Amino acid sequence: MKMTFIGADHEVTGSLHLVESGGRVFMVDCGMEQGVNLYENAPLPVPYSKVDYVFITHAHIDHVGMLPYLYKEGFRGQIFSTRATADLCEIMLKDCAHIQEQDTEWKNRKAKRAGKPETEPVYTMADAVAVLDLFVPCDYDQRIKVCDGIEIRFVDVGHLLGSASVEIWLTENGEERKIVFSGDIGNKNKPLIRSPQYIHSADYVVMESTYGDRLHPDKNGDHVEEFAAVIQRTLDRGGNVVIPAFAVGRTQEVLNYIRIIKADGLVKNHSGFPVYLDSPMAVEATQVFRENRMDCFNDETKKLLKKGINPCSFPGLHLSITSEESIAINTDPEPKVIISASGMCDAGRVRHHLKHNLWRPECTILFAGYQAVGTLGRSLIEGRDEVKLFGETIEVKAEIDKIEGISGHADRDGLLEWIGAFMQPPKKVFIVHGDDDVCDRFAAKVHEQFGFDAYAPWSGTTFDLLTGEFVKITEGIPVRKATAAQRKVSGIFANLLAAAERLRQVVLHNEGGANRDLQKFTNEINKLCDRWER
Ligand SMILES: [Zn+2]
Ligand SMILES: [Zn+2]
Repeated sequence: MKMTFIGADHEVTGSLHLVESGGRVFMVDCGMEQGVNLYENAPLPVPYSKVDYVFITHAHIDHVGMLPYLYKEGFRGQIFSTRATADLCEIMLKDCAHIQEQDTEWKNRKAKRAGKPETEPVYTMADAVAVLDLFVPCDYDQRIKVCDGIEIRFVDVGHLLGSASVEIWLTENGEERKIVFSGDIGNKNKPLIRSPQYIHSADYVVMESTYGDRLHPDKNGDHVEEFAAVIQRTLDRGGNVVIPAFAVGRTQEVLNYIRIIKADGLVKNHSGFPVYLDSPMAVEATQVFRENRMDCFNDETKKLLKKGINPCSFPGLHLSITSEESIAINTDPEPKVIISASGMCDAGRVRHHLKHNLWRPECTILFAGYQAVGTLGRSLIEGRDEVKLFGETIEVKAEIDKIEGISGHADRDGLLEWIGAFMQPPKKVFIVHGDDDVCDRFAAKVHEQFGFDAYAPWSGTTFDLLTGEFVKITEGIPVRKATAAQRKVSGIFANLLAAAERLRQVVLHNEGGANRDLQKFTNEINKLCDRWER
């Protein structure tokens, strides 16, 4: 009975844990690494085709994004998740496959022109569609027998519609061990969905630590009035409010806020102002939220549904799916609210809306979610005065605003509350899914506060769940040039590193370009380096 840590160890993305017990092999999550990748992931100790089951905590890409790849590499077992997670995975995985295919097609067109070999996408739409067939949708709070020696139960953890912690009971040669995987732990009092439910017993716990060193500044997070004020002043000026939002989760929260604003008449003199939801993925995800999800929703939302009120719907809401519908939004002069993806403005239809609205002083760009370093969204919040979109320089004249949405993640206190709910000390608590030293610091905090034996493993570490001993302890292997010094960077230097990464991406995108342009670009980079080399 062994557990091997593969992904999201001293990192935040690419969640993947592997357990071998009683001759069976299962994974908990099969995520894709996103953003800056600092450490190498160890290879799986078994071939993908030998994996029997996958248990999924929630539908975010950093927890499910590699499922189609698993299929491509021969996995034909079963994937257990909650019903809402299975439905959201259909949207997320198809979208991810579509992006992979498009990206590869684009790179291959360039490669062809340059006489270079073509590459294959990481996986295709066919892989994504096929892996979706392997899902076994489950209810919350039911103990499910997966096979002899493996039983599981999903417990709501309040992070995203359908999100769960997984309790797993393993039996091998008559000995039983219980492991709990926290999944991403949600925030309390979020709109729409339930707050995290607590688990009280386990031999071993594997828990996330994303915000293990931070406290959320604003805990009650009732932003309806702030939100209404932004819409009021923008519509009064005759402008549009553009809201970049993640298609799954944040978009539905924004819709719920606007429903309240409309129902309570908080925006005066523009009754019935139109709201456009312009993202096919967001429209589909909203559909999943609209379906009867009584088991996922909080009491307030349940009450609304019982009264026949849909929390994500209101008069004046237009769903735009085709690109013609999307284009039409910007030819119609009536002031309106436009919600579109991606949430950080680095891709998707929202970039068209930025192009049409950023230069107009009467408009507002309203950010409702976290903006990572290096994204267009972040640079707008930091006051950039012009941007390049679709090859055009656009002046930033619109009002730029931000409402701190309620984070999907519990902060340090929320995490401590979750682990503190265990009545008996677990034999060991493994801390994963946090930035590098955050994992170690949070492990120390858990030990200090509760006396639990807490440890932050590196990828490749293997632990024997029967003997309670490590089989193998590894150290982090930095990806390519990431040095120890780089790992420790924070703040302004991190911004510089992100800018350097962006430069590298821009260089790669120019592969196959005209020689004259490439030479000019090279000269400019060299000039820049000459200036800063000291
Ligand atoms: Zn998540
Ligand atoms: Zn995550």
